[in-house]
Amino acid sequence: MMYLAFLLCLAADHRVAITIDDLPRGGDGGPRDYESIRAMTEKLLTPFRVEKIPVIGFVNESKLPAPELRKILDLWLDAGADLGNHTYSHANFYKTPLAEFEKEVIDGEPVTRAALAARGRKLEYFRHPFLNVGPNPEAKRAFEQFLTARGYRIAPVTLDTSDYMFALVYSYSPLKARVVNDYVPYLTLITQFFEKRGMEVIGHEIPQILLIHSNQLNADQMPQILAMFRARGYSFITLEEALKDPAYALPDDYTGTGGFSWIHRWAMAKKLKFKTYEEEAPDWVREEYLKRQKSP
Ligand SMILES: [Zn+2]
Repeated sequence: MMYLAFLLCLAADHRVAITIDDLPRGGDGGPRDYESIRAMTEKLLTPFRVEKIPVIGFVNESKLPAPELRKILDLWLDAGADLGNHTYSHANFYKTPLAEFEKEVIDGEPVTRAALAARGRKLEYFRHPFLNVGPNPEAKRAFEQFLTARGYRIAPVTLDTSDYMFALVYSYSPLKARVVNDYVPYLTLITQFFEKRGMEVIGHEIPQILLIHSNQLNADQMPQILAMFRARGYSFITLEEALKDPAYALPDDYTGTGGFSWIHRWAMAKKLKFKTYEEEAPDWVREEYLKRQKSP
């Protein structure tokens, strides 16, 4: 029996689309000048460029002046990445009136759209900041209609992680080694959890969509992250390919303050009674993150 389970595991069609948010750089405590962001970005993108691994980056255009941002986005496109809109200033839909939130989308377009257009490509994907899809069903529905009318598809997430907590703690050098030690094992637990939970909720193995952020930790650890997925039998696919799975057309009716994996949203929409949740970041990481988040 165990042997059969092992064979089934090997034969499993594990696929993941890697998506990276908060371009040009998330809140990892690292330097935010152009040169530092360029160096971090080049390191982050190297395995994607060299190994031709699909990736999409979601941009907050407010974070750099347009000419500098364009140069960073060109690095992403040079590496074979796609780009999407993550609002102008990383607005939280729960706290932002609909009209203002729609303006955040429009204001978040020009540099990204121009960078894509220069290569004959279109701006096609939108990712909600904080994975917050709206304060109530009416706002959610109205915003989704706005996105469709503007030619966007929503980029959901299944492998939702707290990488940003590890990333901020990583910028504090006495804890760097400890973060390195615990980070990829944490991502492994998240991946294991959602593989299993995806099967329970959907009934078949779905292509996963990973959310991580543009930061120094992921730049330094990307070879190890990719190796972890490969060791589990994953191949890397585009977001477009992942979204072809019928699971991504299932209803997700959650609205409110939260932001979490679409696997939990589908479970809620299906009114599944049996609930389980993924591993949190280790206590020490959460404590150090909260300490550092408060200090200037
Ligand atoms: Zn974000």
